[in-house]
Amino acid sequence: MTAPRLEIELEAVRQNATVLVERLGRRGIGVVGVTKAVMAWPELAGVLIDSGVAGLGDSRLENLQKLRRDGSTAPLMMIRSPMLSQVDAMVHACDVSLNTELAVLSALSAAAIRYELPHAVVLMVELGDLREGVAIDDVVDMARCVTRLPGLVLTGIGTNLACQSGVVPDQNKMDELSGLADEVEAACGLTLDTVSGGNSANLGWALSSADVGRVNQLRLGEAILLGVDPLTRMPIDGLRQDAFRLVAEVIEVKTKPAEPWGEIGQTAFGPAAPTPAPSPDGHGRSTIETRRRAILAIGRQDIDPDGLTAPAGVILRGASSDHLVVEVADEPLTVGDELSFGLDYGALLRAATSPFVAKVARVVQPR
Ligand SMILES: *Cc1c(COP(=O)(O)O)cnc(C)c1O
Repeated sequence: MTAPRLEIELEAVRQNATVLVERLGRRGIGVVGVTKAVMAWPELAGVLIDSGVAGLGDSRLENLQKLRRDGSTAPLMMIRSPMLSQVDAMVHACDVSLNTELAVLSALSAAAIRYELPHAVVLMVELGDLREGVAIDDVVDMARCVTRLPGLVLTGIGTNLACQSGVVPDQNKMDELSGLADEVEAACGLTLDTVSGGNSANLGWALSSADVGRVNQLRLGEAILLGVDPLTRMPIDGLRQDAFRLVAEVIEVKTKPAEPWGEIGQTAFGPAAPTPAPSPDGHGRSTIETRRRAILAIGRQDIDPDGLTAPAGVILRGASSDHLVVEVADEPLTVGDELSFGLDYGALLRAATSPFVAKVARVVQPR
């Protein structure tokens, strides 16, 4: 089979999405399934829709265009503020976008009129994580401006926490968002359909809060894909953590000295890992101890080595652009064999984005 490849067990994703849609649904919260980590892979998008998500969200125009082309029936949401240079394509590619800038909104309005494609807007509020968002004091004025732009429909407000600064979406933050929704409605004389509370980091709050207030939408990527809470990276009860694994092929297996030898400068990617102090006789220990090392045909261009989990008996020793070096001790490994690794969100993002890594649906027997 082709290597390297990202194996995706769609049944695991289906279980995670179904469970989250059901648990949040009981609290009046709908799920936008976020596909950016897998470049809107069509098979996975289809599973999310089958699982009952209310829509699909992505941060890249090209991914949204792909979902549109594939005939996605779900509403499509641009979850990053659109680029001014992409507004024309944007009104074709998606139904709703998260916004913070009047210049973009004006251009979106013009595009929506030009192509007769009404476009929904969710205004994003800065609640402390210091990524995107309109200042709290400006939200009502900004909302009023949006309602005056032809072709645009202000359908909601939203926020995003825990991405840039790790600010936790707690009851206070969510109450603040709910209060702002009421304020905007009163000031503009309209009803907001959507109060979009945040991402996977909101789950702890959303599933335990005694009062979710006006929050009726979460945009979920990581929790559905990897089954973990991004605030702690701990498994979420009832979800699976094994949907993805990365498989790479061995291109060299040799026994080599345990340590490098020669004068040590920087590597291709910065300072070298510190080598142990020389042995008491003043010589490096390099040529005495040996290790069995293997090289896999994958590298930093395709994965974040820090985000990989090696199989038992295999130790990650480093990676350059195209080589992943491991120590294999007693593993009976030969050239042409494959090893498979677990991935965290960063490693998944990069692997799914590399044109050198194939995406393959892994089918397992029903459990
Ligand atoms: C990436 C992103 C999400 C999804 O985040 P997860 O932590 O993967 O659930 C939601 N909203 C916005 C604005 C994002 O950029």
